[in-house]
Amino acid sequence: MSDATATDSDSSSAHPQATAQSAVPSRIRPILLQLYRAGILLAICWQVREHHVHLRIEGDAPMELAEAQRFLTNAASLKADHSPLAGLRVFDKDGVEIGYAVRTMPAASHIIGYAGTTDTLVVLGADGGVLGMNIRSSEDTRSHAEDVMLDWSFKKIWNGKVWAEVAEMDVKREGIEGVSGATMTSMAVAHGIVHRFALSQGRMAIQPVRWDMTDIGLAGAVLMGIWLTFSRQAGRGRARRWFQIFVLGYIGLVTGDLIAQSLLAGWARSAIAWRMAPGLALLFFASFLVPWVSRRPLYCQQLCPHGVAQEWILRVVPNRWHIGLPDGVHRGLLRLPALLLGLVVLVILLPVDFDLAGIEPFDAYVIGSAGVATAVVAVVGLIASVFVPKAYCRYGCPTGALLEFVRSHGAQDHIGTRDWMAGLILALVVAIKSNYPLVQYWIYGF
Ligand code: SF4
Repeated sequence: MSDATATDSDSSSAHPQATAQSAVPSRIRPILLQLYRAGILLAICWQVREHHVHLRIEGDAPMELAEAQRFLTNAASLKADHSPLAGLRVFDKDGVEIGYAVRTMPAASHIIGYAGTTDTLVVLGADGGVLGMNIRSSEDTRSHAEDVMLDWSFKKIWNGKVWAEVAEMDVKREGIEGVSGATMTSMAVAHGIVHRFALSQGRMAIQPVRWDMTDIGLAGAVLMGIWLTFSRQAGRGRARRWFQIFVLGYIGLVTGDLIAQSLLAGWARSAIAWRMAPGLALLFFASFLVPWVSRRPLYCQQLCPHGVAQEWILRVVPNRWHIGLPDGVHRGLLRLPALLLGLVVLVILLPVDFDLAGIEPFDAYVIGSAGVATAVVAVVGLIASVFVPKAYCRYGCPTGALLEFVRSHGAQDHIGTRDWMAGLILALVVAIKSNYPLVQYWIYGF
């Protein structure tokens, strides 16, 4: 793969760029470029993560500052909390954290009162104690919800209690009685609050790091791949061939743990699952860090089963079967991986139902789990490799393009098309994130 995308980026080495960069000492320029590329990727991931944390916390009814100001009159801003509590931190105008706000929906969407669900806001003070609660919206009978809000003794039940006390409340044992005339609605509100607090409390349990045989096997594969990458090729041919059999059989068919856009998108939205899948996380870090610091494409050269499959096809197919693509087609196809990366970013951010596994062949290695699109991409890519050496790597792989983006090109490195495109993608991500309600309106009309 690296040969194709490298050609792409190298082709952008126009003289004006070199001239523009001549002011930067040539020894420092490659370092600055690598920092820029890592920074862009981290910034995109950070923005994607922020976006999804907001969506998870605020859902379809974002909390507004005025709601917090009912209890914290000097509240000036809200900031999403990435911790498992998943609420909003409240700050005053000097940036001092003065409280915390949390809503019960969508966590309590299964708790139905008389005729529907109720979304309740609970605000805590700087000392961690509850200051008060308020019904934000209710699908329940309107008069019942109004009765609950008029019952001051019910509304004060949680006041002064800290998070753990609310989470551990037993509504029945505590003798919490519903509001007269709105018993079911008020009890649903009470259960919703306790459930919301208890849920976050439970999620705060530290997940243990789980190393199993799969992780140990992956870690061994990463170490072997690094050794092959940095050892001299002469005399390593046999070891590499055996290792490729292992990569195809173990990483591909046994574990199915391949670096793919669907995996990276999930991790960007949530977090890297290093506790649950430490071997896969190690594969991920090594695949990005080794080319970033050393110019060596570790994953594409040693660890990708689909790359191995195409390399074997290249070995067994006679050269006379190979066809040369017209220059225009070749140059056009070189853009495809970058376009797919743009598509991936849009899918991650927008409210669209699109399975990213379908744009890559990697799920096809997990027998029985591949969708039709994945299987088609896998088969077509391998057939194409019969006639065009490593066709999928060169013209179709967004993951390969991403790994190529971070790969250092040494002293001759320069700002190329990929760097400008990455900057544009970051700007697009920021624009979508900042105007998300508008974007959502354009797509769904509401
Ligand atoms: S299929 Fe993609 S990730 Fe695998 S070797 Fe080719 S370019 Fe790299």
